[in-house]
Amino acid sequence: MPEVATHCPYCALQCGMTLRGGGTGSVEVLARDFPTNRGGLCQKGWTAAELLDHPERLTTPLVRQGSGLRPATWDEALGRVVGGIRELQARYGRDAVAVFGGGGLTNEKAYALGKFARAVLGTRFIDYNGRFCMSSAAAAGIRAFGVDRGLPFPLADLGHADAVLLVGANPAETMPPLCRYLAEQRDRGGHLVVVDPRSTLTAKRATLHLAPTPGTDLAIANALLHLAIVDGYVDRDYIADQTTGFDEVGRVVAGYWPERVERLTGVPVADLRTVARLLGEARTALVVTARGTEQHANGTDTVSAWINLALALGLPGRPGSGYGCLTGQGNGQGGREHGQKADQLPGYRRIDDPVARAHVASVWGVEPDSLPGPGVSAVELLDRLGTPDGPRALLVFGSNPVMSAPRARRVERRLAALDLLVVADFVLSETAAVADVVLPTAQWAEEDGTITNLEGRVLRRRALREPPPGVRTDLAVVAELTRRLGSPVAVAVDPEETFAELRRASAGGPADYAGIDWTRIDAEDGVYWPCPAPEHPGTPRMFAEGFATPDGRARFVAVEHRDPVEERDAAYPFYLTTGRVLAQYQSGAQTRRVAALHRAAPGAFVEVHPDPAAALSISDGQLVRVVSRRGVVEVPARVVDTIRPDTLFVPFHWPGTARANSVTSDALDPVSRMPEFKVCAARLETVP
Ligand code: SF4
Repeated sequence: MPEVATHCPYCALQCGMTLRGGGTGSVEVLARDFPTNRGGLCQKGWTAAELLDHPERLTTPLVRQGSGLRPATWDEALGRVVGGIRELQARYGRDAVAVFGGGGLTNEKAYALGKFARAVLGTRFIDYNGRFCMSSAAAAGIRAFGVDRGLPFPLADLGHADAVLLVGANPAETMPPLCRYLAEQRDRGGHLVVVDPRSTLTAKRATLHLAPTPGTDLAIANALLHLAIVDGYVDRDYIADQTTGFDEVGRVVAGYWPERVERLTGVPVADLRTVARLLGEARTALVVTARGTEQHANGTDTVSAWINLALALGLPGRPGSGYGCLTGQGNGQGGREHGQKADQLPGYRRIDDPVARAHVASVWGVEPDSLPGPGVSAVELLDRLGTPDGPRALLVFGSNPVMSAPRARRVERRLAALDLLVVADFVLSETAAVADVVLPTAQWAEEDGTITNLEGRVLRRRALREPPPGVRTDLAVVAELTRRLGSPVAVAVDPEETFAELRRASAGGPADYAGIDWTRIDAEDGVYWPCPAPEHPGTPRMFAEGFATPDGRARFVAVEHRDPVEERDAAYPFYLTTGRVLAQYQSGAQTRRVAALHRAAPGAFVEVHPDPAAALSISDGQLVRVVSRRGVVEVPARVVDTIRPDTLFVPFHWPGTARANSVTSDALDPVSRMPEFKVCAARLETVP
């Protein structure tokens, strides 16, 4: 029976798995011992193969006819796409067509999409759903270290650290096998501190759980640094030798004395002092953030505050210590390195850098001046669709913005205003359902490629079998569109050939893959970037020899607390926060169709504390409305004492009247342009 060693199609942990079988309905998932998962898988990984032969799998292109979609041949569907692109660009210019990618796409696809947008379509409008996921940590990482790699150390370091501070992360539900490292850390006598407004499964494992008011993490970080300075825990030699900007940060955090921060955040002074001591006295310590830290209108500054704390304690670059960020989507890391971001060329180069443009243009065989300039971020791009000076067509690959973008009703209106919406997907997602053309594409077990996991480790995804008849890979779709558009630019169908080109394009950039090839990945259980040459060992631990800044020093950035864009008031007395549950993944287009996952988590809900529930006469299981200034969600109440009385929580995996993003805010971080998913003002109403 055929068998292949590969990785899970879902989150950034990229657990190792073996696929066995290949015939219809016969693919079996076996857990594989890989450094990230040590033989473990979560429910999502175990059931991933069910989608391969799912009855709702798309195997025929669809085109819009009136209010419905009807089957079409590839020739007709691609003809409609190419005809639309030609007509719209002739009438409105190159920027009339936009591309929207995804953080789950392989490195090869992310690279090909960026090349297709810039060199074939000639549009500046390309961005992707990773903007919703990790862009604030990316921006803060570049600001401090000169480079953005989620974890600049191997995941295994978690198991050995004396102290781990997890901020806005819930791996017990989002990536359960990672908890093996936390268990190892606990068994070795280490301390785990979790910062989260909810008492999550992860928080329950912690030595200490801080439950701040949503949107106040930055003040906690500044208070911890304040205490670290006062109590003599900062590493003065490290600060002097390896950093710049500490004095200004010291002046700012002087204003964050613990009693003030207790009033601001609700976190007791005694707990702040305990955390400062645990971190300060630890021989090795890790500060790790995730979406709870980032998805705010001050997300970049909030991550900077946590990095400041880590730098002051002398952690980054020290063996077993450091600062890192847990990436969410499967290729959240690689997906933001190779050119599907609005301001970026492959290798994490800036598109406005003349040297980068000349290098990438030479790899693509085009003139540097022919490459467009920076576009706009995902929310801003979606907001411009169909407007007089915005794109008239959108091509979506590996994304479901109708579900995943904030203020989703407005997104639906903007998509409806387009002349042409094209979606490549393997199920009829909520975005595909409103498209003009739907192109059925291959799944993870049907194509080869590479993924870069949350550690910056480049992995091989391997095909077990061919795509079903009628289905094409994303690369084949992009290559065929390129051919039909008559472009002289070559876009390869073969993923290994694409990777070879990506290596050349990334050479010399911050995310340098030049020394990585597929054979080497196979032989070494993955290779960590930067890896500039075949003889280079790769870089599991970054910053041991200094930082990727012009002077080699890490940069402190002084940051102040700011209130969320929407504060609570009499009409909207709760903070609403959103997130994930164990058995579902992101927009839910895949996992909602898996029977076991649907049974485990069949629908959305709103978590509410017993005190406000009693005051509003709401009982557990009762259908209620969560209302914000942008819309309404109708879901059953889940009355729990694991959430703050001033906070509501709704998971974002379900569509229709349960769609959490109908109510979320599209306020953006000024640096990363990431939306404020994690806090908006809301009220709770009973349904008559
Ligand atoms: Fe897949 Fe993530 Fe679950 Fe691992 S933790 S099995 S990578 S979804």
